[in-house]
Amino acid sequence: MRDIALSFEFFPPRTEAARAALWSTVAELAPLAPRLVTVTYGAGGTTRDHTESTAAAITAQTGIPAAAHLTCVDTDRATTLAIARRFWQAGLRHIVALRGDKPRNGDNCAQHRDGFANARDLVAALKTVAPFEISVAAYPDGHPDSIGTEADLDYLKAKIDAGADQILTNFFFDADAFLRLRDRAAQVGINAPMIPGIMPIVNVAQLRNFAQRCGLTIPREFDQQLDGLDEVPERRDQFALDFALTLCRRLHAEGVKHFHIYTLNRATLPRALGAALGA
Ligand SMILES: Cc1cc2nc3c(=O)[nH]c(=O)nc-3n(C[C@H](O)[C@H](O)[C@H](O)COP(=O)(O)OP(=O)(O)OC[C@H]3O[C@@H](n4cnc5c(N)ncnc54)[C@H](O)[C@@H]3O)c2cc1C
Repeated sequence: MRDIALSFEFFPPRTEAARAALWSTVAELAPLAPRLVTVTYGAGGTTRDHTESTAAAITAQTGIPAAAHLTCVDTDRATTLAIARRFWQAGLRHIVALRGDKPRNGDNCAQHRDGFANARDLVAALKTVAPFEISVAAYPDGHPDSIGTEADLDYLKAKIDAGADQILTNFFFDADAFLRLRDRAAQVGINAPMIPGIMPIVNVAQLRNFAQRCGLTIPREFDQQLDGLDEVPERRDQFALDFALTLCRRLHAEGVKHFHIYTLNRATLPRALGAALGA
């Protein structure tokens, strides 16, 4: 597979040790010549400042284009747009525009009074700040806030019509879920590239936790295969690589050429996967 492109997602480090680990990961993955790296954004301000500095530093040191994620759910519009302006001034030309998760305490007033209601409104406003390239999110297995597949597709189209250039998906376990979403999107006239998010299994407990947090059901048979893997790391790593490789090969056979890998700031699996895919 010589025709594939990769992108890698990182999160901003909070400690010196985490920073060193990130840079070592970036150095290991850079030779795979990713088309893009993206840096997540902590809702609630936890890692916000580090998103911009991390993304800008990766581009400065490696020449790889970096996108900063930006969420808007709990911030007023002026602040969100000021942050976007800062991204532009820092040399960042690509934003992953997101609504962000609502707080978990059941509080319905999660949205800031003067904030953007959703990612579509954020995309439209970002286009008035600067000619950013913009990615938006989609969910092959649905989103907890979804009111139905049709509404999701209409809404995804609205995000593209508002100015988004490409779609990055949440991770998923079954290639068919991604392919169904891609086909349905094409049917409603969404022509923007849709890039599958691939989650290498670094740790089973963590994977189950991520899945639960974003309302993803792990298929039962697959979940049973995961049982006990954390106790045997070598077997887990081989399983993780086989799983990700099988998923990517199936998608590639269906015409998918670009994969967005959630690295969790670790190089081993993404590097093995990239090499096995021929990157
Ligand atoms: C690739 C990717 C990267 C992410 N990065 C981050 C990050 O860095 N930081 C972070 O905090 N979170 C991140 N998230 C998580 C994301 O913030 C949450 O999933 C959040 O709950 C939804 O954000 P969104 O931009 O998808 O929301 P939206 O696109 O606004 O919508 C979320 C859901 O609500 C539905 N919906 C919203 N408005 C409407 C409407 N008007 N009509 C019909 N349906 C509607 C959508 O169809 C969808 O199902 C990421 C998710 C993905 C897939």
